[in-house]
Amino acid sequence: MSIIQIIAICYAALICIGLPFIIKAHKKDKNIAFEVIAIVFMPLVLLIGGFLLFKTWMQKDKALPVPKKIRNFIKPDSVSVNGQIMSLAEYNIKYNKTLTLKDVYGAKYADTIDENDIRSEESFRTLKVSDDVGSFIDTEFLKIFGEAFLKRDFSNVENLISEDATMVIYDRKTIVGAKNIVDYWKDWLLRCDNDKVIVECEVKKCKWFSLPALQISPKGYVNLYVILEIHNGLITNIMDIPNPIGSIAVGGPDLDWDRLEISRIRNKLSEAIDSKPNHISCIDCSATSETLKWYRVELPMGIHGYVGDISVCPHCDKIVEFIPEIRLRYEEPIPF
Ligand SMILES: [Zn+2]
Repeated sequence: MSIIQIIAICYAALICIGLPFIIKAHKKDKNIAFEVIAIVFMPLVLLIGGFLLFKTWMQKDKALPVPKKIRNFIKPDSVSVNGQIMSLAEYNIKYNKTLTLKDVYGAKYADTIDENDIRSEESFRTLKVSDDVGSFIDTEFLKIFGEAFLKRDFSNVENLISEDATMVIYDRKTIVGAKNIVDYWKDWLLRCDNDKVIVECEVKKCKWFSLPALQISPKGYVNLYVILEIHNGLITNIMDIPNPIGSIAVGGPDLDWDRLEISRIRNKLSEAIDSKPNHISCIDCSATSETLKWYRVELPMGIHGYVGDISVCPHCDKIVEFIPEIRLRYEEPIPF
């Protein structure tokens, strides 16, 4: 609702409440000026307020041209929907429409836009594969996973998962069994579709583990990384990890960082803490997060540093996970 609409509504309300008192007061003086003003202007104000409300209601969920003053700063195929800016393709997917730029802006604007600048609906439904992902069995499995996500058809995926496979939903729970795992994702996608959340998928390299991962990006929410453990040609464990781990506000190390080396931080580990279930397993030996060693740690990294929890595999002597919880700022930089 715009400022003008709010002012008009408030104005109408004030007149409605205040006018009877004013009229009553002026009747005593036999002055009819206010009655005249009320009769002439009050319906007009109410009409304007009503019209603006009706206009707001009519424009709900409609794709409108982006205001001219911000068009130079955004992509030319953008539209404004309920005050939010999104591409027209995204709008068409979310609201199940088939509008063109011409429908929203008119031919005069649409004809000036280069076709290459118009994102297609297909581009949101196409699995992206990064060049640096490498050729692993994980890559092929993740491509099938990603396609299943985008097509909402998991019939090919269920056969790739071991009957007794596990899936760790980060910091929440562990699901057991191929059917339960597939049902979880079907339900997850159904909720996204019901809430009109667009989900994009990309097979990319998770730098932290130097492994291929499926990045699932629900628009407006934190990205997820899906990482697989595969044995004898079947998926035995799936990890569903938010990226970044921990709060976005804290920032710092995430799964797109190079993995920290234990040799560089061993002397910074302080007291051991309770192990955390439903966290990341050791990628090298499959030890679950409950069986890893967990520590509180402060990691200076120059002028900034992080305090958080870290897990170390006792079998492989490697860092598995770091969860930054507090961001520090030092007076003088402390090298890592
Ligand atoms: Zn290990």
